[in-house]
Amino acid sequence: MNASGVVLVHLAPDAGPAALREVLAAAGLPPHARELRSHAPDVVTLSLSTSPDDARARIAGLGVVQQCTILPPGGLAAADAGHPRAVSLGGGRSLGGGAPAGLIAGPCSVESEAQLFATADLVAEQGGLALRGGAYKPRSSAYAFNGLGPPGLELLARARARTGLPIVTEALELAHLDAVAEVADVIQLGARSMTHTALLFAAGRHPRGRPVLLKRGFGATIHEWLEAAELVLLGRLVGGHTAPGLLLCERGIRTFEPSERFTLDVAAIPIAHERTGLPVLADPSHPAGEARLVQPLARAAVAAGAAGLLVEIHVDPANAWSDGRQTLDPAAFRALVASLARLGPA
Ligand code: PEP
Ligand code: MN
Repeated sequence: MNASGVVLVHLAPDAGPAALREVLAAAGLPPHARELRSHAPDVVTLSLSTSPDDARARIAGLGVVQQCTILPPGGLAAADAGHPRAVSLGGGRSLGGGAPAGLIAGPCSVESEAQLFATADLVAEQGGLALRGGAYKPRSSAYAFNGLGPPGLELLARARARTGLPIVTEALELAHLDAVAEVADVIQLGARSMTHTALLFAAGRHPRGRPVLLKRGFGATIHEWLEAAELVLLGRLVGGHTAPGLLLCERGIRTFEPSERFTLDVAAIPIAHERTGLPVLADPSHPAGEARLVQPLARAAVAAGAAGLLVEIHVDPANAWSDGRQTLDPAAFRALVASLARLGPA
């Protein structure tokens, strides 16, 4: 994440095709330069070895430029390393900033009104901060249920109206981003989307300014995860969203151990927190793969300083349309909440 000397350039809406050449010339670069990275048709970053201040002054003076900013050394994700940042989830609730771990819970997939409302009521009853549930689901099998889509989003909006719980739901594709951002209080970007750079940037930039919950890819290093976080934050900067608005979530990585679905990388929680100051959550459900392992993993994550947990629950896990095996039923969820209360603050 070496951002020393990186300048962010946002072109004016009416900038023509020659605008980029003007920017590069002002930066002292040739028309095709490897120092250039394009993030969207109207946004580029330039990695400069010469004084970024001089280049910034020249670029900012061009009529085709709307915004020209020197990024902090080390990048946006690292800008507040060591300083805990709180992120608002909406509805007056927040995570991080040194607050005790909060719970985000709900089904893997939104299935029906009855299923979602009963689960949402349980989350509210147990003092959860937000309701999670996927209307768009990434699935490994070509033939598995992949979410209700728009009707699922509508049910999530109604569950919020019913309980007051903010909604965390996943955007899988650029094409769905507007619809998801309209309903979501927090846009989840899943493990499989961590390398979808256009989606990372667009989710951060979205005019609604929703905070993003970024899961770690199961084959990604912490460094790669934080590079993905950087793209979300870059999007937020371009979109004019000043609040941190990014939550990180460790959800287990692939290892050689077959007795668990993934291996929860507990050390990633303090490491990512140390490097960014951002709230780092843990999802104990996907690494567990089995409901009985969720509670021990959740306790380990909170003991390691997780700012919150993202947990899959369902009123009838045996009949859940996705991830039923790792999903807690109401009794197990109540037991988890009680056991976390006994654990006390990290
Ligand atoms: C989920 O949270 O439902 C999900 C699909 O998780 P992940 O992206 O971590 O696999
Ligand atoms: Mn799931």
